[in-house]
Amino acid sequence: IDREITNAGYALLLALILAALMSIGFARAISGPLKLLTIGAEAARHSSRHALPRVRGYREVASLAESLNALLNDRRQREEALSLARAEAERAEREANTAHARLRDAIEAVPAGVVLFDNEDRYVLWNSRYEELYSESRNMLRPGLRFEDRLRAAIALGQYPLAIGREEEWLAQRLANHHRDSSDHEQRLPGDRWVKIEERRTRDGRIGIRTDITELKRREASFRLLFDSNPLPMWVIDLESLRFIAVNSAAIAHYGYREEQFLAMTVDQLWPADDRAATRLAATRDLSSNAGRGGRHVTADGTEIHVQIFSRALTYAQRPAKIAAIIDVTERRRAEARITHMAHHDELTGLANRTLFRERLEEALARARRSGDGLAVHCIDLDNFKTVNDTLGHPIGDVLLRMVAERLLQCIRETDTVARLGGDEFAVIQDGIGDPQAAGNLAQRLIDAMSDPFAIEGHEVAASSSIGIATAIRGEEDADLLLRNADMALYRAKSAGRRTFCFFEPEMDAHLQARRKMELDLRTALARQEFEVHYQPIIDLASNRLDGFEALLRWNHPQRGPVSPAQFIPIAEEAGLIVSIGEWVLRQACNEAMTWPDDTAIAVNLSPVQFMSGNIVQAVITALAVSGLPAGRLELEITESVLFEDNDVNLATLHRLRLLGVRVALDDFGTGYSSLSVLRRFPFDKIKIDRSFVGELAHNPDCLAISQGIIALASGLGMKTTAEGVETRDQADILRAGGCDSAQGYLYGAARPGCDSRAFIASSRMAAQSAA
Ligand code: C2E
Ligand code: CA
Ligand code: CA
Repeated sequence: IDREITNAGYALLLALILAALMSIGFARAISGPLKLLTIGAEAARHSSRHALPRVRGYREVASLAESLNALLNDRRQREEALSLARAEAERAEREANTAHARLRDAIEAVPAGVVLFDNEDRYVLWNSRYEELYSESRNMLRPGLRFEDRLRAAIALGQYPLAIGREEEWLAQRLANHHRDSSDHEQRLPGDRWVKIEERRTRDGRIGIRTDITELKRREASFRLLFDSNPLPMWVIDLESLRFIAVNSAAIAHYGYREEQFLAMTVDQLWPADDRAATRLAATRDLSSNAGRGGRHVTADGTEIHVQIFSRALTYAQRPAKIAAIIDVTERRRAEARITHMAHHDELTGLANRTLFRERLEEALARARRSGDGLAVHCIDLDNFKTVNDTLGHPIGDVLLRMVAERLLQCIRETDTVARLGGDEFAVIQDGIGDPQAAGNLAQRLIDAMSDPFAIEGHEVAASSSIGIATAIRGEEDADLLLRNADMALYRAKSAGRRTFCFFEPEMDAHLQARRKMELDLRTALARQEFEVHYQPIIDLASNRLDGFEALLRWNHPQRGPVSPAQFIPIAEEAGLIVSIGEWVLRQACNEAMTWPDDTAIAVNLSPVQFMSGNIVQAVITALAVSGLPAGRLELEITESVLFEDNDVNLATLHRLRLLGVRVALDDFGTGYSSLSVLRRFPFDKIKIDRSFVGELAHNPDCLAISQGIIALASGLGMKTTAEGVETRDQADILRAGGCDSAQGYLYGAARPGCDSRAFIASSRMAAQSAA
């Protein structure tokens, strides 16, 4: 057993040694190449050289190395392809990133909100302005979000105030807009903000632009407010078509057209057909000036109104337009027209006044200069207007003037001018006449038209007229001169016996100059002692004895010699000189009468002007006091005109004179108006029968009848009568037989200087004594 065991042990030991020797041999053959391979693989892992070192030795290891090498090669090729692809991808990505970034930068730079959608309406890109505008839903924005989804969410977030309550409808509308190829609309956002939305289809989606128009909207709203609720009519017109684009309610109310009527009209339809200036404007379409313009418009009911238009060019809906505000100045124009009319017309008759007449005359002269035609100026004066006014009163006088104006207008052509220059003075410009004959014809027509009596309030009023004519042949004459010449001719016509016309002749001018000269001379005559009072005896017809004298004024002009009072008294009256002259006559006459016997009276003439402007009572008192003449010896002769116009002041003056004890005689009775009512108004002491009746007494039965009538009337009223202008014994006899109290005239003696009156008294006394 032990040996067995020992043998077995040895056998085992040998086996172990053998095994060890074998494994060393194996290990030598494998580990060398493996080690080499491991080092090569490690190097291949770190370097780009992937090939493994060649190994010799163990067969399997070599083939392992070979297959390993092939494996490595594959991997290398794959890696190379991969890195190439990766490099390519990286480059593409880099490029895409820059384009995107550029696009992003570009849209970021746009001041408006910009958004891009893809073909499925998903968000692609938007700028921060877009986010700001839609701040309510900005958080949910992400690329790929569907537009509709964002809309729905934004509606829920309250981003679209106008959608509230009608969400689906609003959404449908919004999307419909969105899907158009191109759409523009406005959208309201919270906080009363407004955006303008513009969307366009692009090749691969849509681009949207959002502009904040809140400010614009606000301005538009305030403009609207200003426009719509403006009390002035306003409108906007298109400058090319002249159509109304907008009108406010004031315009609708003022013009009476409904809005739709307005909007169907052009502005020129408001202009009256005859408004040439406006039509010209329309023709040139040149309404673009901004200046305020006056014009006329016709309203819907056909009324013409005057307007002041203030307008301004503007762009309205991208077109040249004009906004206008209209002020109705019709009333102002009317008032102005009234004022101008008043300034140029006579209020009573509506005829042109002197101012307008002069203007028209200048125009007519200018026309005459151009055409070579002549023209005539007619000055027309009513012959007896003053009497009508005095006796029938001013209201009837006014009616007469109006009727005269009408008749004048009927006689002339439309182109001629009739004017009332003042009082009862009218004038006519007769235009375009060939020769003076035409002027004479018209003057005669005017006179004929005036000679028919006027029926006024039951009165038959006669108002004939006199006319002076001045003609201008080629318009070279001066307007003022023409008028003055016509006036001079009128003066001549009146003195030629009225109801007649007279052409101006150069010598009339000389006459007027002479008249002016006389007035100048009269002013100094008193101081230069050129006046003298003469006395004409008045004889008592029954006793043939001297009754008294009438004081008659004489003017010894240094150059002309004696000037008749009939000539200079009217001028002295006009110039107001008669007051001081009259007082002087009074004093002279009273002083003279003091040299006469106590029973000899003195009669002094008083002018109506002395009643109007002088203190006649004081003058009489002074003259009586200074001379010492008893009032009973003074007789004052007045004419009936002193008591015209119901002149209560003059009537009272007469009564005060009478109270002094002075007698009052009515002079020149029978001429003028000879109103019997004058006799009733004041109890005259005497009536003087005018010499025009006395002169004809012997051979004109009318004059006899009138004289006898006056004498009978006077005696009936307890008044005495004196006949003037008695030149023959026949006349004296007739008057004496008729019961006339006294007479004066050349039969007994003309007016003589004071010394002659004293001689006359002496001789008449002697005659009386010798007769006794
Ligand atoms: P009268 O008052 O009617 O005066 C009478 C006029 O008749 C006077 O003219 C006188 O000379 C004129 N006469 C007298 N007898 C006859 C006659 O037989 N035949 C004719 N044909 N004439 C006769 P006279 O002096 O030229 O005066 C004219 C007028 O002047 C006066 O008319 C009177 O109205 C006015 N007058 C004269 N002196 C004065 C005066 O001192 N003051 C005023 N206010 N007027 C005066
Ligand atoms: Ca007299
Ligand atoms: Ca007289």
